Amino acid sequence: MFGRGARRSENSKYYEVLGVPKNSSQDELKKAYRKAAIKNHPDKGGDPEKFKELAHAYEVLSDPEKREIYDQYGEDALNEGMGGGGGGHSPFDIFESFFGGGFGGAFGGGGSFRGSRKKQGENAVHALRVSLEDLYNGTTKKLSLSRNILCPKCKGKGSKSGASGTCYGCQGTGMRVTTRQIAPGMIQQMQHVCPECRGSGEVISERDRCTQCKGKKITQEKKVLEVNVEKGMQHGQKIVFDGEADEAPDTITGDIIFILQQKDHSKFRRKSDDLYAEHNLSLTEALCGFQFVLTHLDGRLLLIKSSPGEVIKPDQYKAINDEGMPHYGRPFIKGRLYIHFNVEFPESGFLTPEKCRILESVLPPRPGKRASDMELNNCEETTLHDVNMEEEMRQKEQRRRQEAYDMDDDDEPNVHRMACNQQ
Ligand SMILES: [Zn+2]
Ligand SMILES: [Zn+2]
Repeated sequence: MFGRGARRSENSKYYEVLGVPKNSSQDELKKAYRKAAIKNHPDKGGDPEKFKELAHAYEVLSDPEKREIYDQYGEDALNEGMGGGGGGHSPFDIFESFFGGGFGGAFGGGGSFRGSRKKQGENAVHALRVSLEDLYNGTTKKLSLSRNILCPKCKGKGSKSGASGTCYGCQGTGMRVTTRQIAPGMIQQMQHVCPECRGSGEVISERDRCTQCKGKKITQEKKVLEVNVEKGMQHGQKIVFDGEADEAPDTITGDIIFILQQKDHSKFRRKSDDLYAEHNLSLTEALCGFQFVLTHLDGRLLLIKSSPGEVIKPDQYKAINDEGMPHYGRPFIKGRLYIHFNVEFPESGFLTPEKCRILESVLPPRPGKRASDMELNNCEETTLHDVNMEEEMRQKEQRRRQEAYDMDDDDEPNVHRMACNQQ
């Protein structure tokens, strides 16, 4: 009943699309994607929708951070984070980045789908651990991050003049194919990233190279982000810094997204705007009254006490208005603080017969009249055993399953059932 605010959405579809188990390794993902993508490639007459689905599933699961978010929060969390809808990359981009381009040639189509356009850069998603106190009071976290930015000196061109030429090593494809003979008459073809242009397909002459980035077009920048955690924010809520992720040439910069992760609290649990606290009462307190002090999340001391004559029953809740969490966006409105009472009874043997008589004289009388000797003579004696009910139910369930399993082995279950009915 104390489930935290974050709703769990569906998070197994991507695994199903790729046909891999949830705990599969990166290697297994790769293999599964490779096989399915080749089979479903539209150039080979595959279903474009299925191809798209595969690429999207692979794009998410192959990125450890995205995979973690997907596993925890499901597709919705990613969709919001990845610039809406189906995510950043075209399925063909993903396919090509996987096979290193040029693969289209194998299908005889080759690049007919793509034009040169700005790619959507990836979002950088980080978990941000916060305490319940942080969410109650609000706080600012300073985080130092380093990220890629376009070289400010050459504005991301990589050259002084702003010009670049097609790489001769790969004719601008960024990939090189080498062949080697592995046995007489057997030639193996290998494709790898062009070492001269590092896969970009273009080169900048030595003399024209930007001195700051050495022609790489990007440099690193250290940046301190101030993340404002506002009063009342929830576990799983996102704080987005638009366009602050890694910059890259011809790319729309993605966002930096922080996802709040609330640490468990030793005293309070939260459910939307309400807080829950547990409190143990002795039997005497439950019957005769109690008071105690509770330190709130902002350090205030709350005096909590029963009304005169009030009796608290085991498992009872009481509520204090306006001492719950502040409402996000309207922090002056607060939820309720619920106290859940547990009543601790004394152990067996605590009451002597003498004390029992005293207690009976003040407690409400026993119900009904006692059974007569005649009635008792007609009864059978029984024994009450101690029992751990949870353990008991668990064992019973296990036995039931085993029996159901054994039943399945039966060749003629219908006959068996009929026989039972006749008894
Ligand atoms: Zn090259
Ligand atoms: Zn530069």
